[in-house]
Amino acid sequence: MKDPGIIQSFSNHKEKICCNGNLFIISAPSGAGKTTLCRAVLDRIPDMLYSVSYTTRKPRKGEQNGIDYYFITENDFKNRLKNGKWAEWADVYGNYYGTSSEFIDTSLASGRDILLDIDFQGTLQILDQYHDSITIFIMPPSLDILKLRLQSRGTDSKHIISRRIDAAETDMKNKDSYRHVIINNKLSVAVADLISVIKKYRTDRNADKER
Ligand code: 5GP
Repeated sequence: MKDPGIIQSFSNHKEKICCNGNLFIISAPSGAGKTTLCRAVLDRIPDMLYSVSYTTRKPRKGEQNGIDYYFITENDFKNRLKNGKWAEWADVYGNYYGTSSEFIDTSLASGRDILLDIDFQGTLQILDQYHDSITIFIMPPSLDILKLRLQSRGTDSKHIISRRIDAAETDMKNKDSYRHVIINNKLSVAVADLISVIKKYRTDRNADKER
């Protein structure tokens, strides 16, 4: 059977201002393959910048400070919040996550495209300020497959997995708020779909620049 790939595509959002970079927001329930998809995008589009989030959660095995996240203390996070340093922030599973305003603003102003991997709460905050952000939701093929993926990843306890499944159900209810929805059934197809969505906006921007 043909992979369903991109199942939804809205284009009723504001047009972007010529020559600033594009802000691509990717959200997905955990286990849907978002990290792998983001890495594939960064590999294939080398001038795309990745917004490394800040978090108060402890690093998982193999995660590196400054690459996967900036791992900071709760105190540090709250100080930055007080000083208006976050473009958006959220409390996810009892840990804080935030995106640096300075990074977003300086990168966009210098014409760079940015990939943001954030949740729905963060997406709404970013859309509030950066109206022409391009939002993409990654769906797992089903909740059963998601559960299997989370179990085989072996990074979370049973309790956390069941919390993530509940959260995934809630997250998936928000998928219609995203401009594009991609089903990660077969990884190679999902990568191709995602790259083709991103490249379309990049081509449109280059056309704007030439006008
Ligand atoms: P994890 O701890 O599994 O890496 O991420 C948990 C959730 O936090 C994921 O849904 C991820 O998209 C979200 N997340 C990661 N960084 C940020 C961020 O900077 N802001 C927001 N709002 N969510 C984030």
